Amino acid sequence: TRTPVNVTVTGAAGQIGYALLFRIASGHLLGADVPVKLRLLEIPQAVKAAEGTAMELDDCAFPLLRGIEITDDAEVAFDGTNVALLVGARPRAKGMERGDLLEANGGIFKPQGKAINDRAADDVRVLVVGNPANTNALIAQAAAPDVPAERFTAMTRLDHNRAISQLAKKTGSAVSDIRKLTIWGNHSATQYPDIFHAEVAGKNAAETVSDEQWLADEFIPTVAKRGAAIIDARGASSAASAANAALDHVFTWVNGTPEGDWTSMGIPSDGSYGVPEGLISSFPVTCAGGAYEIVQGLEINDFSRGRIDSSVKELSEERDAVRGLGLL
Ligand code: NDP
Repeated sequence: TRTPVNVTVTGAAGQIGYALLFRIASGHLLGADVPVKLRLLEIPQAVKAAEGTAMELDDCAFPLLRGIEITDDAEVAFDGTNVALLVGARPRAKGMERGDLLEANGGIFKPQGKAINDRAADDVRVLVVGNPANTNALIAQAAAPDVPAERFTAMTRLDHNRAISQLAKKTGSAVSDIRKLTIWGNHSATQYPDIFHAEVAGKNAAETVSDEQWLADEFIPTVAKRGAAIIDARGASSAASAANAALDHVFTWVNGTPEGDWTSMGIPSDGSYGVPEGLISSFPVTCAGGAYEIVQGLEINDFSRGRIDSSVKELSEERDAVRGLGLL
């Protein structure tokens, strides 16, 4: 029998947390044969709600779930953790400037990064979901100098999955026929979903679609603004699909990408594709043996170059802003 993997979820009592925890406990994060222990971190006011979710988790009698601990103390939540899903974040309130938002989130992600540094297991892997995810991940990573930087990642898998689905619809193909899609840059409205290297049933996607107007005026904005469209339709944000993407992100990181395909992850740049080193930006990556690698050697055309650059510029500005606030 395997030793359980310690999984910490922050913001566990929130909407995404509610969609996430049951699937972690049923084996969708790491695999159907991997037992897990859950640690739920919440702010004091939300601990009671997290306890309610834990009661429901108990009531599912999940065979893989080997324990649940609930706390408002990051040092406890990250003690010995192997997988940390940082979901809780400060939402943008009406009239809040970006600087205020970054500062409020710095107050969350800096101490969490430090607690991960001091307490987590040596193999810890961190996924930041809470927005602004890329820069929150950067803040946490900077506060954890003893953890290899590449263990801090930000989620662009939801954007990736959304783009696959839109492309499948447009081409009348199955989602399983789409390969090698890439999200570049920031998980924000500036993100760039790239189909120039993607394949539809083995054929180049951009050539198959052959419609630059659809690409620029429909596909890219639909993917980038999907979150707002869902809020508009449901009256609530996209919690289940975000949770699903978080599971996909970690599952792929740990278990690998299929042969002949890649995925998208927000990861510390090594300078590839002109993205300044250290920025947490989304890249095409392959995963194997629990590690990821940036797909190298892709030709970047002018259309793509401009869009990657403008998203990366936004990331640089966010980094400058949090540096100015003393968060790095
Ligand atoms: P959600 O669970 O809906 O969202 C949590 C975070 O995920 C937000 O920052 C949200 O960003 C982000 N997110 C990323 N992708 C998506 C997506 N596709 N759709 C929706 N959200 C996305 O928020 P709730 O308010 O329901 O819950 C947050 C919980 O976090 C609360 O229970 C709160 O108490 C807790 N919290 C915990 C902290 C801690 O553990 N220290 C600190 C702060 C909060 P966006 O705002 O841009 O939608």
